[in-house]
Amino acid sequence: MSTFPPICPCQINPSSDTVSAPLLYKDCCQPYHDGLLNEETDKAESAKPDTAERLMRTRYSAFVLVKPEYIVKTTLPAQQNLLDIQAIESWAKETDWAGLEIITHTPKLGKRHAQVEFKAYFNTSDNAADTLEEKLQAHHELSAFVKVADNSNNGSRWYFLDPTTEMTITQKQPCVCGSGEKFKRCCGMYI
Ligand SMILES: [Zn+2]
Ligand SMILES: [Zn+2]
Repeated sequence: MSTFPPICPCQINPSSDTVSAPLLYKDCCQPYHDGLLNEETDKAESAKPDTAERLMRTRYSAFVLVKPEYIVKTTLPAQQNLLDIQAIESWAKETDWAGLEIITHTPKLGKRHAQVEFKAYFNTSDNAADTLEEKLQAHHELSAFVKVADNSNNGSRWYFLDPTTEMTITQKQPCVCGSGEKFKRCCGMYI
């Protein structure tokens, strides 16, 4: 994709006609993408998603706009080097994304977790005879997020907990998110 769409990809919801005033990309996910990818500390700080839903939306938009670095950098730091950035990029490029529907956002689960249930829509393009409805499919997922303290400025940042990475950690070890709790009592409950 060479030009950014004027409407943010995360604002397109094919299951609803009632999005009254969809945000433009520059007013929606772009500040988060640019802030984190440009690594300008001030900008990254000002454009930090303050909820798991906000982070989820920026990750969906990053898939649509093929920004695999953003997907990696918003995954829990302990999981980042387990991700295959090439595979993420290929998948993002090969998918014909069609929109996002946030079904539920549970902003607070225990001390530091949150969950977002969503459908990420995509078109299947195999059969030209299919109608648009028949082509439209969705990844329906319940994703978990964790808020991690950032010691450098007493702030915190939300990260995606990737349930597919193979981590060598036992249930009794300190959690990968750095909370100081045992894994099984912390992120282990969600991945
Ligand atoms: Zn957006
Ligand atoms: Zn944890």
